Amino acid sequence: MAKLTMKTPLVEMDGDEMTRVIWKMIKDELLHPFIDLKTQYYDLGLPEREKTKDKVTMDAALANKELGVGVKCATITPNRQRVEEYNLSEMWKSPNGTIRAVLDGTVFRAPILIDAVKPVVRNWEKPITIARHAYGDVYRATEYRVPGAGKAELVFTDDNGKETFRETVFDFKGAGVLQSQYNKDDSIRSFAHSCFKYALATGQDLWFSTKDTISKQYDQTFKLIFQELYDTEYKALFEAAGITYFYTLIDDAVARVIRSNGGFIWACKNYDGDVMSDMVSTAFGSLAMMTSVLVSPNGQFEYEAAHGTVTKHYYRYLQGEETSTNPMATIYAWSGALRKRGEFDGLNDLSAFADALEGACIDTLNSGVMTKDLISLVTPGTSVTPVCTLPFIKAIRTNLEKRLAQ
Ligand code: NAP
Ligand code: MG
Repeated sequence: MAKLTMKTPLVEMDGDEMTRVIWKMIKDELLHPFIDLKTQYYDLGLPEREKTKDKVTMDAALANKELGVGVKCATITPNRQRVEEYNLSEMWKSPNGTIRAVLDGTVFRAPILIDAVKPVVRNWEKPITIARHAYGDVYRATEYRVPGAGKAELVFTDDNGKETFRETVFDFKGAGVLQSQYNKDDSIRSFAHSCFKYALATGQDLWFSTKDTISKQYDQTFKLIFQELYDTEYKALFEAAGITYFYTLIDDAVARVIRSNGGFIWACKNYDGDVMSDMVSTAFGSLAMMTSVLVSPNGQFEYEAAHGTVTKHYYRYLQGEETSTNPMATIYAWSGALRKRGEFDGLNDLSAFADALEGACIDTLNSGVMTKDLISLVTPGTSVTPVCTLPFIKAIRTNLEKRLAQ
């Protein structure tokens, strides 16, 4: 069979540890044999970030912005221990943070569902995608441990030096705590654009929730910005696509999500998204089956796995042990990116290949062939064949060849 060809290259960002090993296996077994793969390669592995003083990360982010679609391997975010381990000259920032800042994007996380692993919530039949507004609020709050009696005030002084707002927050009679939060219209608007765009790109309903009944300025602003953008820019597109935008209070949303069958995007403020994404991903099964895509308000996409570099497995791998690390989320990062590249470039074959690749992964898991992390999650009584990473990928290849031959 002739290999598929590409037009525009994908921005390929290599990474660290076990996922870097898996990255190469995926390319060797599932991509190169079938596609004349065109990528702009950036090595975001920690040694290369150190060598380039992290310039490589910025270059990759800018390339993703220019070319529109990127695929990223998990990378180490250095801490003190990593600075020693890799003899770093600096504690380089999280590559994901750098890329997110350049693309001004929102992260969407969705689980991969298979027959043998039932979500804890029995009525969830389709994935629930969580979009977290990863800017501001409590994550950038100013806090004060109030030592004793005194007055706390909220003051705003405009750029001309004029005080335009002053209100007593609380007259403390004794010790307590104080916090101030902020967010920006720009950032909320970018978040909203990314959410509306991703809903359209995936054909799913969009839910958004805040606590605007209690927070009559702060949360209300989020609600109004979403509604305004929906009415002026997205309503007609949503109607044409047969999808809906739905706003509700966060507590009502939580109740509805639990009772739902899934199959929608749930946009959350920063803290809600932090908490709810952990709850939803745990209820669906495993971090190893969680996909992640960063979507910019301008419609650029960066695909990756939600998990990290799986360090514990890597240390065992270095000792010559064969590991059973699950490559699913990393494979889906590639299929997601290839499908999107195919859409952008009008290459239906490429998008169809992405579908076949994902189909082959599901065929493999449904046949019981799976990595060990999934074994404890499958419905009791399911017949399973636990395998290590490479045999798992080879089994997917066999199923992929079958699908492509049809
Ligand atoms: P992790 O790499 O996600 O792994 C945590 C544990 O989850 C693993 O030890 C493993 O459990 C299980 N696991 C995760 N992915 C798996 C997979 N594909 N297959 C099987 N099991 C899997 O998180 P971490 O150990 O906290 O972080 C390791 C490094 O990754 C850190 O340096 C961190 O900075 C980085 N990180 C990067 C990203 C990113 O690039 N997006 C995200 C998160 C973390 P068992 O050991 O029980 O098998
Ligand atoms: Mg969290």
